[in-house]
Amino acid sequence: MPFLRSFLASALLFCTFSVLAQTITAPKSAMDYLVDIVAEKGIGARVAGSAQEMQTAAYMEQQWLKQGLAPYTSSFKIKVGKRSVNVMVDIAGKSDKILIIGGHFDSTAPEIGSLGAADNATSSAILLALSDQLRSQNLPITVRLIAFGGEEVGLLGSKAYVAQLSSQEITNIVGMINLDGAVGGDNLYIHSAHTQKPYKCPQRQQKYSSDASLRDAMLLQAQTSFAENPFALHPEYPGYPEGEAGGWSDHAPFACVGIPVVDLEATNFSINGQEGYDGYSQSIHPALWDCFSESTMTACNRAAETKWGKIWHTEFDRLDKLLPLFGQRIETQLQQNIKLLNDFVEAYTPNVE
Ligand SMILES: [Zn+2]
Repeated sequence: MPFLRSFLASALLFCTFSVLAQTITAPKSAMDYLVDIVAEKGIGARVAGSAQEMQTAAYMEQQWLKQGLAPYTSSFKIKVGKRSVNVMVDIAGKSDKILIIGGHFDSTAPEIGSLGAADNATSSAILLALSDQLRSQNLPITVRLIAFGGEEVGLLGSKAYVAQLSSQEITNIVGMINLDGAVGGDNLYIHSAHTQKPYKCPQRQQKYSSDASLRDAMLLQAQTSFAENPFALHPEYPGYPEGEAGGWSDHAPFACVGIPVVDLEATNFSINGQEGYDGYSQSIHPALWDCFSESTMTACNRAAETKWGKIWHTEFDRLDKLLPLFGQRIETQLQQNIKLLNDFVEAYTPNVE
C-alpha cells in the first residue's frame, strides 16, 4: 500500500514540523492566555480554595517559567482546611525600587454560569503578556508582577502579601497598580485611592495613602501613548470624588500601608445603575438589560429591571458570551492596558532620594 505509506509518512512529517514550529516560535498573545484560562476547554471558574484556583496559580507559574523568568509563590490561609496562593515574579530594572502590578486570578459565581473572564482572567492574561514584553527591556525600575489568589472572598491574597512586608520593604515600593475587571465594560478608567473615606485598614496599618500622583502620571502617559486616549477618570458621584476608588479590590491593602495605588477598571460610570452612578453597571449593551433607555441612561423600568448591565459575577462573564456581544473590543482593551502599562514602566523616572 504505497499510497497509504507515503500519506502516513507525510502526515508524520507534517505533525513533527507543526510541533516543532509550536515549540520554537509564536509567543503567546494576551488572548491566547485568556483562552487557556477561561475557554470551554480551559481551566474555567476558579473559586477561592478550589482545585481550579490552584491549577490557575500553577498555570501562571508555568507561563512565567516558559518566559525564562523566576516566579515564586507564597501560600496563605482562606479558612479552616483551605489555602490559596499568590504567584509573583520580579523583572529587575536599573533601580531596585519596586513598582508592583497585580490582579487576582480567582473568580466567582460558577453556579450561575460565570467563568470569570472579564473579572478577572483578563488581568492574568495582561500580566503574562506584559511580562513577556518587559523581560527583554532595560527597565528604569524593578517591576514585581503579582497574581493574587482569594480576592473574591475578602482580598485575602493582597492582605496576606502586605501583612508580611517589612517597613523597609514597604518604603522601597513606589506604587501598586491593580487590574480588576480592566477589560469588558464600555469605558476604561484609572482610579486612585479614596481621599475622604480611608479603607478599612487593620489597626497597626495607620499610614493610609490617598496619594493620587501615580494615577495622574498614568493618565498623562495615556495621553502620550494613544492618539485617542481611551482612559479617563470617572466623574464625581455621591460619596466618590472624581477619579477615586472604593476599597473594593487588591489595591486597598497597599493604600493601608502608605503605598500610592492605582486601580484600572472597564465599566460605565455614566449609567444610573441599581444603586446610582457607582460603576457597577458595566455596559449599555441591550443584551445586558431587560430594557435600557439611552435617553435617561438607566433601565426603562427601574422597578422591573433584573439585569442592570452587569458583566461581573453574572452569566455574561464568559468568552462565549463576551466575544459575540463585544467582538473586537475585548482584544482592543487587552492591548490598550498592556500598552499603557508597558509605556508607563519604560518611561518611569524613579525619585532620587
Ligand atoms: Zn475582580
